[in-house]
Amino acid sequence: MKLIDLFNDKKPIVSFEIFPPKLDTPLDTIFDALEKFKALGPDYISVTYGAGGSQKDRTIEISSNIKNTYNIESMAHLTCVGHTIEEIDFIVDSLIENNIKNILALRGDPPADQPDFDFSKNSFKYASELISHIRSRHNDLCIAAAAYLEGHPECSKIKDDMINLKHKTDAGVDFLVTQLFFDNRLYYEFQERAATIGIKCPIAAGIMPIFSSRIKAMTAKSGCSIPAKLVMMLDKYQDNPDDLLKAGIEYASIQIRDLIDNGADGIHLYTMNRPKSSSEILKNAGL
Ligand SMILES: Cc1cc2nc3c(=O)[nH]c(=O)nc-3n(C[C@H](O)[C@H](O)[C@H](O)COP(=O)(O)OP(=O)(O)OC[C@H]3O[C@@H](n4cnc5c(N)ncnc54)[C@H](O)[C@@H]3O)c2cc1C
Repeated sequence: MKLIDLFNDKKPIVSFEIFPPKLDTPLDTIFDALEKFKALGPDYISVTYGAGGSQKDRTIEISSNIKNTYNIESMAHLTCVGHTIEEIDFIVDSLIENNIKNILALRGDPPADQPDFDFSKNSFKYASELISHIRSRHNDLCIAAAAYLEGHPECSKIKDDMINLKHKTDAGVDFLVTQLFFDNRLYYEFQERAATIGIKCPIAAGIMPIFSSRIKAMTAKSGCSIPAKLVMMLDKYQDNPDDLLKAGIEYASIQIRDLIDNGADGIHLYTMNRPKSSSEILKNAGL
C-alpha cells in the first residue's frame, strides 16, 4: 500500500523508525524487536539507510520482512550519496520486487572520511534530483522526503532551505517527515511557512525521545536546538540514567499529545530500536 493513501484517510499516522543492526550483529536482534513493535500497531515502520550504502542489503531485507513477514507497511530510506544512477535503479527495483512501495528519498551526508565531499560530482547533487529520477521511472511509488524545521545545517538561510524544500516537493514528493525537534512551536510555525510557499503535502512530526545524555551530540550534528527546560532536565539527571530515561519518556509523551491535539498529520517516532520505551510513550500519549 502507498502510505500517502493512509495519510489521506487517517490522522495522525503513527510510524516508527528503526535502524539495521551493525553488520557484525545478527539480524535476529531486530526481528525480536519487530515482534514487539508489531504489538504496538504502528501504521508503518521505516528502516534507515546506513551511511554511503554500507548496510543497503540489510535495509532491503528488514523492510521486506516488515512488509511480507510481519504484515506491516514499510518504508525504506535511500540515500544517493556515492551511488551511481545504475546502483540507485537497482536498489529501487529490488525494493519493488520485495513488494515495498514507499521510499524516503534522501541525499545523505558526506562520507565520514570525506567531510569536503563534492556533491556536484555525485550522480544526484540534491535529494530533489533523486526524487525526480525515481518519479520519472515509477509513477506508482510513494515517495517521502526529509524536512528541517530549523533549516538544514548546511543552508545558511532558513528561507532558502524552505525554497529548496519546495523544489523537492515539486519533484514528486507525497509526504514529508521532519528532523527531530523538542519545541512543538517550531512544527506549527513550519506548517504555516510551508503552506505559505505552497507545500500542501502531509508533514509527519519526527519525535526523538531522550534515552540518554548522548542526545546532545545527536542534536549538535542535526542542527536541532534544545529548549532551556530540556537543558535543565539533562543537567539534573546527568548522573542518573534511569531517571533521565523516565523524564525523556514523559517529555516525548507530552510533546506527542500536544501534536495530536493540534492536528499533526503524523507522528514519526525515532525509536532507537527500543520497543519498551516506545510502548510507554504511546500509552502515555493516549495512542
Ligand atoms: C526523517 C529523516 C530521515 C533520515 N534518514 C537518513 C538515513 O536513513 N540515512 C542517512 O544517511 N541519513 C538520513 N537522514 C539525514 C540526511 O541524509 C541528511 O540530513 C542530509 O544531510 C540531507 O539529506 P536531504 O535528503 O535532506 O538533502 P537535500 O534535500 O538535498 O538538502 C541538502 C542541502 O542542500 C540544500 N539544497 C537542496 N536543493 C538545493 C538547490 N537546488 N540549490 C541549493 N541548495 C539546495 C538544502 O537546503 C540542504 O541544505 C535523515 C534525515 C531525516 C530528516
